[in-house]
Amino acid sequence: MNFIETLKLKNKLFSIFFILVAALLLIGMMGTVNINAMKKNLDSLYFGSFVPVIELNTILQTYHDSLVSTLYKAKEEQISPDEAISEIRRAVAIIDKEWKSYESHFKRDEEFAYVAYVTTEIKEINKFFLTILEALENGHDVKSLSMVQLEKRVTHVHQVIKKLINYEIDVAKYERKNFLSVYDSVLLKLGLLLVFVILGVTIVSYHVLRGIQQDHNALEMSAKKLKIANKKLENASYTDSLTSLYNRRYFNLVYEREIKRAKRNHTYITFMMLDIDYFKQYNDMYGHIKGDAVLKKVASVFQDILKRPSDYVFRLGGEEFGVLLTDTSEISSASVAEAICSAVRACEIMHNGSKIDKYVTISIGVASCIADGALDEELLITRADEMLYHAKENGRNRYSITTHISAATSHKVEESA
Ligand code: GH3
Ligand code: MG
Ligand code: MG
Repeated sequence: MNFIETLKLKNKLFSIFFILVAALLLIGMMGTVNINAMKKNLDSLYFGSFVPVIELNTILQTYHDSLVSTLYKAKEEQISPDEAISEIRRAVAIIDKEWKSYESHFKRDEEFAYVAYVTTEIKEINKFFLTILEALENGHDVKSLSMVQLEKRVTHVHQVIKKLINYEIDVAKYERKNFLSVYDSVLLKLGLLLVFVILGVTIVSYHVLRGIQQDHNALEMSAKKLKIANKKLENASYTDSLTSLYNRRYFNLVYEREIKRAKRNHTYITFMMLDIDYFKQYNDMYGHIKGDAVLKKVASVFQDILKRPSDYVFRLGGEEFGVLLTDTSEISSASVAEAICSAVRACEIMHNGSKIDKYVTISIGVASCIADGALDEELLITRADEMLYHAKENGRNRYSITTHISAATSHKVEESA
C-alpha cells in the first residue's frame, strides 16, 4: 500500500471516493440481478402454482356445489326448472372460464399430455351437463336422471382434477424450496460483499489517513524547520559576523524602540560610544588579523559586563561600538563605563603602538538622562560622540559622561577618569 502514501491528498481522497462508488455500483448490480431472480421465482410460485390451484379448486367446487347440488334440488323440486337452467348455465360458464385461464399458464413439457387429457374429460362432463340443460329447456324434468351415474362421473372428473392439483402443489413446494435457496444465497452473497467492501474501505481509508497524517507531520516539521531557519536568518541579519554583537541594522531598530519606551515611561536612557585607542597603530604594528582578534576579545569583554536582558551592545562599524542601557541611572552608567575601560585594559593585550599604555585600552563617551517628551534621540548620540571625543582629548583609556542632553542646555561636560 506504499503507493497510497506517495499519492497527493487530492488523489488519496479520490481513491476512497472511487472505491466507495465502485462498491456501491457492485452492490447495486448484484442486488438487481438477485432481486430479479427472486422476482422470477416468486412469479412462478404465484402464477405457476398458487393461482392454478385456486382455479382448479374453483372448478371442483363448482361441479359439486353448483351442478350436482342444483340437480339434486331440481330433482326434489326444491328449485324451479328455470332456476336450475340458469344455475347450470352459470356453473358451466365458470368452469369453462377457469379451465381456459388454467390452460393459459406456463406449462412444463411433462404436463401437456395430462392437461390435454383433463381438457377432454372436462369437455365430456360439461357436454353431459349441457345435455341435461337442453332437456330442461325443452320442458323435460330431471326426475328420471340417475344421480348414481351423475355422482360417478363427477367423482371421476374430481379425481382427474385432484391429480392435477396435487401436481401443482408439488411444483409449488419445489418452487418454494428454490426460492428459499435463492434467498439464502442472495443474503450470503450480499453479506460477503458488504464484509469485503467494509474491509476494503477500512484498509484503504487507514492507509490514506496514515498518508495524510504523515504528510501533515512532514508539513509541520518543514514549518518548524522554516521557522528556525527564518529565526537564524533574522539573527544573522542582526548580528555582526566578526564579534557576534548586534550590528548597526539592529541598532537602528532597537535604539528607536527603546527611546520611545523610555519617553513614554519617563525612565533613564543611556547611550555610550566606545572606540579602541590607537587602533590604527595596532593594525599597522600587528596586522589586521590580530586586529580582528582584538575586536573579538573586546566584544566578549562587553558581553561579560553587560549581562542584563535590557543591555544592548552593538558594533556600529570598524572599531566603534555602541551600548544602550535602559533604566540605568547616570551613576550606574558611569560605573558600567568604568568597568568596561578597566576590563579591556585588564585583558593585557600588548599594544606597543599605543602612546598612553602598553596594553590595548578603550575610550567611552556616555550620554545619560531621564527621557521626556522633548528628548531628541539624535542629540543623545551626538552628546555621546562629543563625550568620546572629550575622553580621547583628555588622555584616552577613560570615559566622559554628560547628563545634559536637551538641545537648550550648554555643552558643559562632566568628566570622570
Ligand atoms: P583613536 O585613539 O583616536 O581612536 O585612534 P585610532 O587609531 O583608533 O583612530 P580611529 O578610531 O580612527 O581608528 C580606526 C582604525 O580602526 C582604522 C582601521 O585600521 C581600524 N579598523 C576599523 N575597522 C576594522 C576591522 O574591522 N578590523 C581591523 N583589524 N581593524 C579595523
Ligand atoms: Mg574609531
Ligand atoms: Mg580608535
